[in-house]
Amino acid sequence: MQEILINRVLYIPFDHLNQSFGVLATANKDSDLVVLIESKRMLTGRNWHPERLFFLVSSARHFAAELLQAGFKVEYIKAETTIDGLKSLGISAPIYCAEPSSFRQSAQLKEFGVSFIPNDFFLTPRTLFSEWAAKQKSFVMENFYRAQRQRLNILVEAGAPEGGQWNYDKDNRLGPPKNYVFPEPLSFQRDEIDLAVAKELGMTPTSYWATSRASALSALEHFVEHNLTGFGPYEDASTNSSWSLHHSLLSPYLNNGLLHAGEVVDAVVKKYRSGNVPIQSVEAFVRQVIGWREHINGMYWFLGEEYRELNGLSANRRILPVFTDSKKTKMNCVGSVVADLESRAWVHHIPRLMILSNLALLTGTNPQQFLDWMRENFIDAAEWVMVPNVIGMGVHADSGRLMTKPYAGGGSYISRMTEYCKGCSYDPKLRSGENACPFTTLYWDFLDRHHETFKKNHRMSQQVNGLKRLSDLPELRERAKEVLLGLDQGTI
Ligand code: SF4
Repeated sequence: MQEILINRVLYIPFDHLNQSFGVLATANKDSDLVVLIESKRMLTGRNWHPERLFFLVSSARHFAAELLQAGFKVEYIKAETTIDGLKSLGISAPIYCAEPSSFRQSAQLKEFGVSFIPNDFFLTPRTLFSEWAAKQKSFVMENFYRAQRQRLNILVEAGAPEGGQWNYDKDNRLGPPKNYVFPEPLSFQRDEIDLAVAKELGMTPTSYWATSRASALSALEHFVEHNLTGFGPYEDASTNSSWSLHHSLLSPYLNNGLLHAGEVVDAVVKKYRSGNVPIQSVEAFVRQVIGWREHINGMYWFLGEEYRELNGLSANRRILPVFTDSKKTKMNCVGSVVADLESRAWVHHIPRLMILSNLALLTGTNPQQFLDWMRENFIDAAEWVMVPNVIGMGVHADSGRLMTKPYAGGGSYISRMTEYCKGCSYDPKLRSGENACPFTTLYWDFLDRHHETFKKNHRMSQQVNGLKRLSDLPELRERAKEVLLGLDQGTI
């Protein structure tokens, strides 16, 4: 190592892969050394979905190759841990990194003496979000989002929302359409780097995920051209005819740095200005990026490190067998969603919330086990997004700090919003008896089990009061015991 030429070491975590942001924005190609570390602990420390691991590693190796080609001095190190990799450099120059995206990584790097610069992979500085959150009685995303629209001047004219409304959600809740053909998702050719990574990992990747900046940009273009118009209306639908519907499939690239939120929003607004895209689709997408995504990241840092460990409903069931093997259930919705996840490490937000998280919530699955499972299996699962998303939104383990009521639903709700029930052995309308839909049974059983907690919650009182109208509560409780046992055994 030519120490004499190196003024600074710029450490690039695998989710900061962008030449224009983070420490690379001010890099000096002549005197800075850029370092990426592929740690064995990262590769083998958890039971990662192979597609996720492939995506992260191949993207990082492509990025390192692009930096070299652009004239940077680059070290791509394989080491036991990140810190071992930094130690192995053996040079005394100071190490810089943009603020990492988890408490744990921040602590490890800080302890080793790494200096941080502000993380600009998001549109909202952490301090700015904290100032907003500190003033709120409840952390309603919609309030934050409207403030973001004004602060960032996106789809705003003279302080008012373009089109006349801040939010078009009421136009965007259509169920699965009949006889409608969704576009095919973009397919990516695998290159030498991809194939080498796949071989080392002992897996065969799908063609769904880009692993370089250029291919991530083509994914953005594909979304804007082919899916943006229909994004809004079918945002919450699920259908058997398409796994991707009109979803952007951009979250993996936003979360590992290949794309930046600013350029994604600019591309979408530019398309809107061309006059061919309805405001309800553009607004819905912009809300996801400048509202929801920024809000979740801000809340992760605002709520603190201990938030991850909360278990307000004392949920202690071990992770269900169906989460690790889609064949361990007769529930068509759960089996189909887990099988989709096994295939490509991604399902959209409605199956995540309505099927997977709902099942974990209603069965009383341990929040930390479920959180770890989500982290391991989704291609876009960063710590900052999954912790509030699971602990707060998904399984209500935070006793309502993030969301005032749990997102619990029975079979009739799933039947209304998806096509799964048509091919299922269970009946979504039944709550007791052996043909009863497990979701319907467990929904009422969940309200019954947590009756004392939720009767004080004014947003839940109507649902809890519904228990009084159930003439078959004793039978339902018996069936719930059978369902929980069957799910534990992988037979329901
Ligand atoms: Fe899922 Fe129940 Fe519908 Fe079957 S009947 S697909 S278990 S919601």
